Amino acid sequence: QNTTQAKPKWLKVKLPIGKKYTELRGLVDQYKLNTICTSGSCPNMGECWGEGTATFMILGNICTRSCGFCGVKTGRPETVDWEEPEKVARSIKIMNIKHAVITSVDRDDLKDGGSIIWEETVAAIRRMSPGTTLETLIPDFQGNERQLDRIVAANPEVVSHNMETVRRLTREVRIQAKYDRSLAVLKYLKANGINRTKSGIMLGLGETEAEVMETMRDLRANDVDVVTIGQYLQPSKKHLPVKEFITPEQFKKYEEYGYSLGFRHVESGALVRSSYKAQKHIL
Ligand code: SF4
Ligand code: SF4
Repeated sequence: QNTTQAKPKWLKVKLPIGKKYTELRGLVDQYKLNTICTSGSCPNMGECWGEGTATFMILGNICTRSCGFCGVKTGRPETVDWEEPEKVARSIKIMNIKHAVITSVDRDDLKDGGSIIWEETVAAIRRMSPGTTLETLIPDFQGNERQLDRIVAANPEVVSHNMETVRRLTREVRIQAKYDRSLAVLKYLKANGINRTKSGIMLGLGETEAEVMETMRDLRANDVDVVTIGQYLQPSKKHLPVKEFITPEQFKKYEEYGYSLGFRHVESGALVRSSYKAQKHIL
């Protein structure tokens, strides 16, 4: 496969513009705030920040897992920073974020899987910015219900956990994850009172249309409310190659299929990331 081919025109990066963006960019630089939006140079920054949405990563930036698509470093993670919940909450306050997405690396090295920091982070944000709505984009916590219960107790408006790919490619794409375990996590959250559950998949890893549609049906069968579907892009030569660039027409087809299955929101498009238009997903 030739992966050095030029990207199709619909993947051209949108320019981050607007007054709100410029203002937030200034604050992030001044206070050295840590957002995924800036560290991943996300093409949607102008749009998301303009609407007061940003994504923050907790529990460090070294992951115990090594998914084939992910740009995050793998290795022995840093020790837990118990001040982190306060720091993240302060960033959200300074940036005056209306809707925050919180995500983390996977911490298989910790007894609690990082779930205590997760719960405390949500609590600290609630305390400092009671008007801010929250989405927690969580790891699978190895399906551990005690750990998932801490997320349930924190009660964010939306809880998301990404399938990332179709059943057949899961082992290759997310080596330490399991397709059915991820579905079970989503089902458990919804069954235990989370208002809105959400999941995302990336396309262009060699999956077929039938497989994508099967995954969408599996998500609905486990009561997932929102699905995001975007184009996979290779973070570096060491990562899985892009097998295919999905056309806008095909993304549209998945969107229509998703609504026919009864999803409350479907975001389907080349530049869609799991937190794209996230503020809409609480409604
Ligand atoms: Fe940030 Fe996510 Fe929006 Fe990108 S899509 S700018 S990472 S909130
Ligand atoms: Fe990246 Fe998450 Fe996989 Fe870690 S578990 S490598 S952060 S996708």
